[in-house]
Amino acid sequence: MPKERYGHFYIDQTCIGCGACDHACPGKVDAIYRVETDFLGRFAIVADDCINCGICVPLCPVNCIHDARQQGVVEGEGGYTRIRELQAWASQAG
Ligand code: SF4
Ligand code: SF4
Repeated sequence: MPKERYGHFYIDQTCIGCGACDHACPGKVDAIYRVETDFLGRFAIVADDCINCGICVPLCPVNCIHDARQQGVVEGEGGYTRIRELQAWASQAG
């Protein structure tokens, strides 16, 4: 049974690691984490946990948190896969 709801927010590579988004993400959700292996101390969003509330977006000082739906990433072929690709820098940082 495929999951019906996915998080559509992602952080791009220009994150400066300030942590504002991490504090903003609702406590029980806690979808944002610092990538331990990234020497720049950047953050990433766990798409499986994100509830699409958007609270983190206006708090980012460098506007690097994006809603993939507004960019058409979710439309058409492999939307969720594409979001994972956009976040791939986080998993490759190590
Ligand atoms: S959109 Fe909401 S749930 Fe998703 S990462 Fe941002 S604050 Fe957390
Ligand atoms: S608020 Fe923006 S710059 Fe700060 S850690 Fe989050 S994504 Fe990175």
